[in-house]
Amino acid sequence: MLPFNIGCGDCSNCSRTYSNACLVANPDAVGAGFGYSGLGPYQGGQAEYIRVPYADYNCLKVPGTPGDKFEDNFILLADIFPTAYHSNELAKVELGSTVAIYGAGPVGMLAALSCQIKGASEIYVKTRSGPATRRCRASCAASTPSASKHTTRATPTWSARTRSSTT
Ligand SMILES: [Zn+2]
Repeated sequence: MLPFNIGCGDCSNCSRTYSNACLVANPDAVGAGFGYSGLGPYQGGQAEYIRVPYADYNCLKVPGTPGDKFEDNFILLADIFPTAYHSNELAKVELGSTVAIYGAGPVGMLAALSCQIKGASEIYVKTRSGPATRRCRASCAASTPSASKHTTRATPTWSARTRSSTT
């Protein structure tokens, strides 16, 4: 697995596990990453192939064997899902929260999923795109008509099942 941020593995920040603030990988500033302006000369990381600087440090070994049934499960851990989940942390989403998410792209949809995982009771996703609304309804377990044309209300049934099975 390859995280989006790039560290050299040897500078004082990387040595202290602060690879997000690597002092070497970006020649123009602190911190480097794939596909972000200001984070160095590295192309985006959502391509079929990518050149990986400092690969011996940045590539993370995941459990299992190449091609096994769990391989695809790790792909979202590289960038989008942690970003979406972190948005929930910043917003202090918790059991019973009501949440509004603006945008139903990949990060917005995974933010809605993160809300479900954290036990939010009502999740609203606002988008200007009809197809995005339909994708969000399908992926985020939306169950009721929208309050406005492109607002999707998601019912967090997945988290409810998870909670009851673990307690
Ligand atoms: Zn470094």
